[in-house]
Amino acid sequence: MAQEALKNGAAQGVDFTERYSRQILYPGIGEEGQRKLGASRVAIVGCGATGSALAGLLARSGVGALRIIDRDYVEPSNLQRQSLFDEADAAESLPKAVAAARKIGGFNSEVKVEAKVEDLVPANIETLLEGMDLILDGTDNFETRYLLNDFAVSQSRPWIYSAAVGSYAVTLNVMPGETACLACIFPDSPRGMVETCETSGILNSAVNLVASIAATEAMKLIVGANDRMRRTLVSFDLWTNEHAEISASTPRTGCRACGERDFVHLAGEGRPHITLCGRNSVQIHERQRPIDFAEMERRLRPQGTVRHNDFVLKFWHEPYEMTLFPDGRAIIKGTTDTAVARSLYARYVGS
Ligand SMILES: [Zn+2]
Repeated sequence: MAQEALKNGAAQGVDFTERYSRQILYPGIGEEGQRKLGASRVAIVGCGATGSALAGLLARSGVGALRIIDRDYVEPSNLQRQSLFDEADAAESLPKAVAAARKIGGFNSEVKVEAKVEDLVPANIETLLEGMDLILDGTDNFETRYLLNDFAVSQSRPWIYSAAVGSYAVTLNVMPGETACLACIFPDSPRGMVETCETSGILNSAVNLVASIAATEAMKLIVGANDRMRRTLVSFDLWTNEHAEISASTPRTGCRACGERDFVHLAGEGRPHITLCGRNSVQIHERQRPIDFAEMERRLRPQGTVRHNDFVLKFWHEPYEMTLFPDGRAIIKGTTDTAVARSLYARYVGS
């Protein structure tokens, strides 16, 4: 044992029992729990603020493998809250998944980190999440969350919903077959304008709170402390000190996803149709998101130039130009990449 530890220590720089000594001392984990953590494989979908915090906590706690899926690049405005990135990453415009993997390698080289610079969509979700024991939500949009929920429920795989915007944080454990799923609690995506970090801002403390709760729930699940897992949707507003919990202990009868097993998002039906339109433009064929132009102009003003009349709202955010119609339809000029268009729409309008 001593010899093996010595060998590990020489190879990895830090001995296992030494590295995790404070966590092994914690009775809920212990040495057996620590070994289970080391054998676990966790996917983190989206590596912005919440994804960074989740990846940082779980990598330090000694999960065996992390697969980090994110299609974006590090920007200076991320540094206020996205804890795995630094100024050099922003200067280089490194993909977030790659920057995260490098950073994790610097503080825990024992974790096997796979960086996937990809947009998670119905066509690739099976490949991207293959072999993962648990899926964590670091996304910023409901479109991807409903897709994750459909996938997780269809495969009976656990996932944890986490979101933070403004000073508000909310999270839910979804254990298919046991607890409520996201569609049990929110049958449909929010319609109309949705608060986003781009339009409402965000406090880094709200991010860290939601990530701390979700990462702890992940650890409980991995070590087999299922009886200790929270069976509610819990939310906090750190600025107003409000706190709420909704029971999620049983699936809702008639739930589309976990009851009827109708996986519309997995089939790609839940998302608005996106087409290329003209040279260097993409159209998002949304029809059910009524937009209040005056309110939208007020929200978008800090982000770029914005103007509207009764029929159309135009928003310029270099190098893109977004034309928004009252029913939610949008034309985004400046890209032919539908994933970029979808991501811009989710950031500024909603998802
Ligand atoms: Zn359900």
